[in-house]
Amino acid sequence: MEETPKVQRDVNLARFTTFGIGGSADYFVVPKSANELQQAIEWAESEDYEWFVLGSGANILFGDGGFRGVVIKNEAKHFEFKERLLKAESGATIAELIDATTKRGLSGLEHYKGIPSTVGGAMWQNLHFLSYPHEQTRFISEIVEGATILADGERRHVTKEYFRFGYDTSVLHDNDHIVLEVTFTLEESTPEDVEEVAVENLAWRRRVHPANAVQMSAGSIFRKIKGVGAGRLIDQCGLKGHRIGGAEVSDHHANYILNVENATAEDVRKLIEHVQKVVKEKTGYALEPEISFVGDF
Ligand SMILES: Cc1cc2nc3c(=O)[nH]c(=O)nc-3n(C[C@H](O)[C@H](O)[C@H](O)COP(=O)(O)OP(=O)(O)OC[C@H]3O[C@@H](n4cnc5c(N)ncnc54)[C@H](O)[C@@H]3O)c2cc1C
Repeated sequence: MEETPKVQRDVNLARFTTFGIGGSADYFVVPKSANELQQAIEWAESEDYEWFVLGSGANILFGDGGFRGVVIKNEAKHFEFKERLLKAESGATIAELIDATTKRGLSGLEHYKGIPSTVGGAMWQNLHFLSYPHEQTRFISEIVEGATILADGERRHVTKEYFRFGYDTSVLHDNDHIVLEVTFTLEESTPEDVEEVAVENLAWRRRVHPANAVQMSAGSIFRKIKGVGAGRLIDQCGLKGHRIGGAEVSDHHANYILNVENATAEDVRKLIEHVQKVVKEKTGYALEPEISFVGDF
């Protein structure tokens, strides 16, 4: 396929991530439908380019050297309801789906209020939150009925089992399959009850998480260590507020690294390594990053 006008060249990636960090992509495409998403991948493959599908950019760190290949910023956002079923393209944001389900009094997505994510990113990582009344962690996998994926150039309909969901993980970590559309099964409720959970969750996030986290972080940096808490370990080691270049361990929540002043990806990488080293030396625990490192560092 010829390069189409829709393909942009040398696009800086920082503004497409919540960290606000990263170099440029050689090529950048913004598909607006599942068909266009599939076409963008087919085009990249026909040109033999590396490709990467980007959602809200809330769980990744792009390198300062950018991305040699095509970044496909997924804006396939169409969704529709059929009674309690919600079928959503993978570029729809969880925020816009919460607005729509709240209005209809359908429960299931309000647990994730305030978390930046597309449907595709949520499936990749099995989006989760200790939702109101904060007694039980809810996972997006609980409401997944099935999906349409793109696997080795073919569209396939798969059930929830295909995804092999775990804590912070799914089968998508191990292959290059792409989610085109997901069907969620929701529970009948009322707009008021759904809204209440969403409002409580947002209030809790505002108390517990650093202000502006959505504009300057990638959420929790390290994976959960069962029964211990990565943030607690970092705090115990006196690392809150520790800074390298423009990157700083949050004073508010030690498992967040913030881009406080034009941080580079290198600053963040160095700070992550420093935290890992100190925590290992002082406590014996090995912290593992939860975010993905993408492109050239
Ligand atoms: C302030 C803040 C708070 C957060 N709080 C939480 C929280 O409470 N709980 C939680 O679970 N997470 C949390 N996160 C992390 C993040 O929001 C989630 O991981 C989210 O699901 C990422 O979605 P995304 O669309 O931004 O994915 P991106 O970061 O854009 O991409 C992440 C990965 O998903 C892949 N991907 C994206 N779309 C598709 C697709 N269509 N098909 C296949 N793979 C795809 C990408 O290639 C990439 O590998 C938080 C992040 C921030 C910044």
